[in-house]
Amino acid sequence: MNLTLLGAPGAGKGTQANVLAIHYKIPHISTGDIFRRHLREETPLGQKAQEYMVQGKLVPDDITEAMVDDRIALSDAALGFVLDGFPRNLNQGKALDGMLAARGLFLDGVIHIAAPYDLLVERLVGRRICPACGATYHIRFDPPQAAGICNVCGTNLVQRPDDRLETVETRLSVYREETAPLIAFYQVRGILLEIDGTRSVEDVSQSIIQQLGARHG
Ligand code: AMP
Repeated sequence: MNLTLLGAPGAGKGTQANVLAIHYKIPHISTGDIFRRHLREETPLGQKAQEYMVQGKLVPDDITEAMVDDRIALSDAALGFVLDGFPRNLNQGKALDGMLAARGLFLDGVIHIAAPYDLLVERLVGRRICPACGATYHIRFDPPQAAGICNVCGTNLVQRPDDRLETVETRLSVYREETAPLIAFYQVRGILLEIDGTRSVEDVSQSIIQQLGARHG
């Protein structure tokens, strides 16, 4: 099953991609996570991506596409994958088609998770992450047991630099202008699943898995 998730920052793509990866036993490939790992490890790719990421802008297509092409070439993706955060514009959408066609593959489903602007802002600005183990929390919707401390490993939680309000606004406008046109791009092919992302994590997962099951058995 080759899937990708489409939706604004804060729609819940990462959370749902994790659930789908476990359910279908396929790797979760998040371009944002791969870029953040390069940033932490201070690789040349991380250094190139940093200036775009801190501003909430898209990293150039050639860099991002090469990174995805390398990742889906790894053996764990041979039986499928769930992409999260790629493609992010029409060029990347066309590039993904090319990468898959070169391997005799295609996308089985594109899951569009929709949520209103105010909810996206609230989810992003209130998100906190554990820099040690990667666990995520929300100051209101999913607070840790002790304020500011990771339940899993006891590390102090931090806010992602690009979850600050000014950057969130840029990220949401980049989504509207560059990423949202992909909805129509996939809709005409009949592979788009429309999902209401305002509901609980469990309800959203259940409706994605149900809709995918109805199409692919
Ligand atoms: P995310 O965790 O998906 O919100 O991604 C964090 C940041 O990584 C984005 O704001 C971009 O700067 C960069 N990024 C992630 N995926 C892509 C992509 N497909 N194309 C360009 N930049 C990306």
